[in-house]
Amino acid sequence: MPAAIDAALGTVPPEGCIVQLQGLSREELNGLRGVCLGQSREQEAKQRVGVRLDDGRELSIACANAASLVSFEDLPGKGIGGIARLPLGPGALVVREPPALLGRLGTQPDKKQFRSLPPAKQRAVFDLCDAYAESGAEEKTLEGIVATNGLPRGSRAEETVLCLLASRFNHSCAPNAEYLWVEDRKMEEVRTVRAVAPGEEICVNYFGDAVQLPRSARQAQLREGFRFDCRCPVCIAADPNSDHRREKLSKLGQEILSCRDTPERGLRIAEEMLEILQQESISAPRTVAQVCNDGFELSLLNGDKSDIQYWAHMSYEAHRLGWGESHEMTRRMRHYSQHPPSLASRSDSKAKPASAIAAVSTTEATAGTKDVDRNGAGQDGLAGGDSHLASLD
Ligand SMILES: [Zn+2]
Repeated sequence: MPAAIDAALGTVPPEGCIVQLQGLSREELNGLRGVCLGQSREQEAKQRVGVRLDDGRELSIACANAASLVSFEDLPGKGIGGIARLPLGPGALVVREPPALLGRLGTQPDKKQFRSLPPAKQRAVFDLCDAYAESGAEEKTLEGIVATNGLPRGSRAEETVLCLLASRFNHSCAPNAEYLWVEDRKMEEVRTVRAVAPGEEICVNYFGDAVQLPRSARQAQLREGFRFDCRCPVCIAADPNSDHRREKLSKLGQEILSCRDTPERGLRIAEEMLEILQQESISAPRTVAQVCNDGFELSLLNGDKSDIQYWAHMSYEAHRLGWGESHEMTRRMRHYSQHPPSLASRSDSKAKPASAIAAVSTTEATAGTKDVDRNGAGQDGLAGGDSHLASLD
């Protein structure tokens, strides 16, 4: 068994997993969280592990004092999945790891890159699922493993990353976590999108906006792309009302694109979209951020100051949960929610909407993946909660 998973099943937190410090005599450190850096040989002998805190400090901590937020366990009928070990709030970071391999969409994995990995990492790569081999008697291949587990490299959608821990999370059509590629750090992150209780499985969405499809279409895509039958709570419940709501969401997502000249109608659509996202438990902050950015731009076109303030605040909240307080878009939206901007003249907006909106644009920030297709195919990995509307300009 590869070291990363072996460690996860034992008491040593795996490299890249977020840990919470506890039981330390230096009281002020207890409760702080940081990224597990793994063990040097010396640390291994002493049952200690390296941890990098948010403020950049690197500590060597006894394993017993570094509680992993998530453990990777063999789940009946599902293979290995991630289970929350501590109560997690919305937006909690659970994994931050550098990719084991980088690649390009539609090309063969770089075998030289693979061979340059330490033997333990090579074994960990080959311990990942190969959806293209496991149904038959065929051997796993590097191609199959990368095709099954590769994630888009944020907004550089033509590039892919293969990550050892992030790949271990199972899919749900009502996910409680999401992927985020952070280009600045060159790291893949997994963050919760709502509160998660200890013992609950942490699941992500494998196929981006396709999660808005009705059940039969989702099942078909997951079978085709990932060779499994989804048995998430939504698929098991098979509620026709859920199918109707998701179909409606896709329709509204199209309709809102044509609302520049009827912003009031667009704002009602945005409200309805948020309600459905909530009802269907697919209100991941980065999906919500996109709707809120649409709402924000429509409210600018509509010109009602309290609306502008409301949508800026909604967008701020979504960005804060999805990307963190210090992200550029989070700060910008916080500023707009306190100092609502306005377009110079409504009558001008038709003539020069792009330039007018550019002054308060929501589209400049580039942060990472909004929607993720595990295959890395067909998704743009939109950045920073881009709005639909701005992309029409
Ligand atoms: Zn499902």
